[in-house]
Amino acid sequence: MSGHAFDIAGQDHCPFMPVFGPPARMIVKGAGTEVWDSEGRRLLDFLSGIAVVSLGHANEKVAEAISQQARTLVHVSNFFANPVATEAAQRINDLLAAATGHRGQVFFTNSGAEANECAIKLARRHGGRGRHTVVSALGSFHGRTLATLAATGQPSKHEPFQPMPEGFRHVAWGDLEAMTAAVDASVAAVLIEPIQGEGGVQPAPAGYLEGIRALCDATGALLIVDEVQTGFARTGRWFGFEHAGVSPDVVTMAKGMGNGMPIGACWARSEIARSFSPGDHGSTFSGTALATSAVLAVIEEMERLAAPGLAVSGGERVRASLSGRRGIDGVRGSGLLLGVELAAGVVAAEVAAACLESGLIVNAVNPSTIRLAPPLTVSDAEIDEAMEILAGVVAALVPDGSSDGGDR
Ligand SMILES: *Cc1c(COP(=O)(O)O)cnc(C)c1O
Repeated sequence: MSGHAFDIAGQDHCPFMPVFGPPARMIVKGAGTEVWDSEGRRLLDFLSGIAVVSLGHANEKVAEAISQQARTLVHVSNFFANPVATEAAQRINDLLAAATGHRGQVFFTNSGAEANECAIKLARRHGGRGRHTVVSALGSFHGRTLATLAATGQPSKHEPFQPMPEGFRHVAWGDLEAMTAAVDASVAAVLIEPIQGEGGVQPAPAGYLEGIRALCDATGALLIVDEVQTGFARTGRWFGFEHAGVSPDVVTMAKGMGNGMPIGACWARSEIARSFSPGDHGSTFSGTALATSAVLAVIEEMERLAAPGLAVSGGERVRASLSGRRGIDGVRGSGLLLGVELAAGVVAAEVAAACLESGLIVNAVNPSTIRLAPPLTVSDAEIDEAMEILAGVVAALVPDGSSDGGDR
């Protein structure tokens, strides 16, 4: 593949801006949980393009929907309605009405960051002058636009781009007291993930979301739940907040909702969505017929497969398979969004690199954690194959003389 982007990453004549590290492989084709690289090597994909391709690569139903739609109507602008976006918004509203007990309204975006951007603007519009602050957690990830970067609780990511937009406050993750101290009359909203995904697959501690809900009720701040990574059946429920039984005011989503079609959405309870007036927000590509055809196909297929149940059973099989393995200290997360905690001395990046060499894609989400997020359609045999590779790689990387694991 000489002269190709894959070979010339990092060089001046590479066509991509150098914001990502060098790519590990050139992937040319996928089917279900499998992908193939440019040298014809098969890989099991236990990352799904970062929890995106939840129905598997080249999913037949989604492929059919988008190719049909591409031949029918792709885009008309928001001066007009299209039936596909209208139905997709209704279906999302049905899912969220079932999960929250409230009807609401949807704004379609092209990404997770834009879904959060919409939620932040909505919270400011709803809060009014003097009530614009958004509180989020340290270790969180909410996107890369300036406002969502400011909301992201990772100060090191802010530094190169100072000054950050004003009106963002961060508190320790999982600490309800710190949250309570931070939510004063200037706070328009709390923005929180049910499981911090990029932050290392860190589930909210028991009672945390419930406590934030009560705090928001007491102060009038909105509860915005960022479901960009956890939404669309990934954690074993349609939305991650359902595990805690709370009812958010605003929900953002993206990754899994188009099975790879770039689309996201911000949903808000109707009385809150009404804080927006025409002209307050928009996007040329909001709700294109093409992108929303993928959403409709995803929802239909996830309903047909009872996808939340697939995430539950798949997650149980992964956990059972990794339990007691040498070099693995535990598995966090929910459904098929899992963080495998490695024993001291085992380096996640080395594990991910060795897995790739053995035909398995996983992600070193932090120095000691491997993130697993395979398609929800992953088969038992694929889970078994992948876990044998992962467990074997980890065991081989346990430092000599380590007393960890094995016989526990
Ligand atoms: C990935 C992610 C985002 C950003 O989504 P993009 O589509 O990359 O803009 C926001 N929030 C969470 C929780 C995410 O995991």
